Amino acid sequence: MIEKILVANRGEIAVRIMRSCREVGIHCVAVFSEVDRKAMHVRYADEAICIGPAPSNESYLDIDKIIDAAKSTGADAIHPGYGFLSENAMFAERCAKEGIIFIGPSAEAIRIMGDKISARQAVSKNKVPVVPGTDGPITDEDEALNFIHQIGLPVMIKASAGGGGKGMRLVKVENEIKSAIRAARSEAKSAFGNDAIFIEKYIDSPHHIEFQILADQFGNTIHLFERECSVQRRHQKVVEETPSPLMTPELRKEMGKMAVQAAKSVNYYGAGTIEFIVDDNLNYYFLEMNTRLQVEHPITERVVGIDLVKQQINIANGEKLELDQEELRQNGHAIECRIYAEDPDNNFMPSPGLIQHITEPLGLGVRHDGYVYEGYEIPIYYDPLISKLIVWAGTRDEAINRMRRALYSYKITGVKTSIRFLKRIMECPDFRHGNYNTHFIEKNLEFLMKKQDCTSDCEDVAIMTILIDYLDKLEQAQPTRPEGQRGNLWKEYGRRRSLLRL
Ligand code: ADP
Ligand code: ADP
Ligand code: MG
Repeated sequence: MIEKILVANRGEIAVRIMRSCREVGIHCVAVFSEVDRKAMHVRYADEAICIGPAPSNESYLDIDKIIDAAKSTGADAIHPGYGFLSENAMFAERCAKEGIIFIGPSAEAIRIMGDKISARQAVSKNKVPVVPGTDGPITDEDEALNFIHQIGLPVMIKASAGGGGKGMRLVKVENEIKSAIRAARSEAKSAFGNDAIFIEKYIDSPHHIEFQILADQFGNTIHLFERECSVQRRHQKVVEETPSPLMTPELRKEMGKMAVQAAKSVNYYGAGTIEFIVDDNLNYYFLEMNTRLQVEHPITERVVGIDLVKQQINIANGEKLELDQEELRQNGHAIECRIYAEDPDNNFMPSPGLIQHITEPLGLGVRHDGYVYEGYEIPIYYDPLISKLIVWAGTRDEAINRMRRALYSYKITGVKTSIRFLKRIMECPDFRHGNYNTHFIEKNLEFLMKKQDCTSDCEDVAIMTILIDYLDKLEQAQPTRPEGQRGNLWKEYGRRRSLLRL
């Protein structure tokens, strides 16, 4: 049985994994780079080991250093989180060789699913529909042209090794095809060290809907329903929700079955996600599988009522799944917003730096998975995700109102954040009506970028401070001041409250 886990990650996900470990009495080891000495995951862990300089490839991506850290601390398992080494088959193999449990699937499953071409081939064999496209990598430009003539424009040219929204190109007109293929290939080579590319039909008005799956090492595989992830910027998720407003009970059942089949095609075990593209006519196609815990896993946890990290640990311990597909239900509605240190007014440029003030959202139905604190400096070296705000309510409308309320009470100063932009998403009619696909942000950009009165994040905090001063004055005024003055103060207080939308 696993007694000590080394978490090979940082930021909110490292803390989130350790929280579950704490609950089941497993000791946690943190690893950290030199700039992360004061990071929350280091403080939260039972033990922490420095694994080198700030750049990821000299620390969080350095397999030797992480294995050494696990050995020297006597950790019997490694949880890779997401990003970094989580989808690195060599790392999973190395863990096995060293007698350390890798909390994730087999190296073989990672290898097949990590390559979009071999993933498509594997799931197609198990009768899962894939996006119409080339069977294998493109080797010949004329062949590619012929193929595109058959399926028709527009198409996506994709790097087989791509990920994180990178390594794909939309081609809309004939005379761009050849140059796009060449550019995609050289980009794939430099970004992923692998120049294999393939062509997929571009699906019109695409919805990104994915299914969470769990499988044990005895072949028992279940799905935990869908997550709607169509609110995207540059092919990266911004807001996720479950259930999907597009879903019907029949489609859910069918896609769930296909997700299970896709996982079974590689004898998958652990937690994983099957991503699908769905068009307006509810045709669905396999897109890829992520062989790890997903950033947006908390919305599934809330609606289904399970802890996915604990499930991962149980599976890694060789236990049988105790969940029964027929007994699982989706209860209510959950939404997640990804809060980034970035500047919406400056093309969403990362905005790392010192957190001067943070007031975290609280209250009924709110979960906040973060890792920053006042006085913490977000380093420039890593993903600028600050936290994930997750809300739950009985209905979708209530969940949106709750998210809006939570976002308005979330204050951060010192760095620019995406909070204002997320508030606008919650207020956008297309989002509120559940009427959106992956073009949502593009289509509503003007609405989403518009600033409202004076409620930008910094100003909120300034007003909050003034408001508290007013309350103080009001209290002081009560016993002594004449009625009229008190009335004025109350009026001013009311005006400021409404500006704050409290
Ligand atoms: P999700 O966000 O749904 O969990 P992503 O594919 O966006 O899935 O990846 C999660 C995290 O891992 C992101 O923060 C992303 O930056 C990182 N990531 C995943 N794959 C890659 C890759 N090939 N290159 C760079 N970053 C990646
Ligand atoms: P990554 O590995 O970077 O996550 P994916 O293949 O999962 O790449 O695609 C990421 C996003 O790109 C999808 O959620 C979708 O918005 C868009 N996309 C990818 N393939 C297609 C397609 N064939 N048609 C339309 N949109 C697509
Ligand atoms: Mg994807």
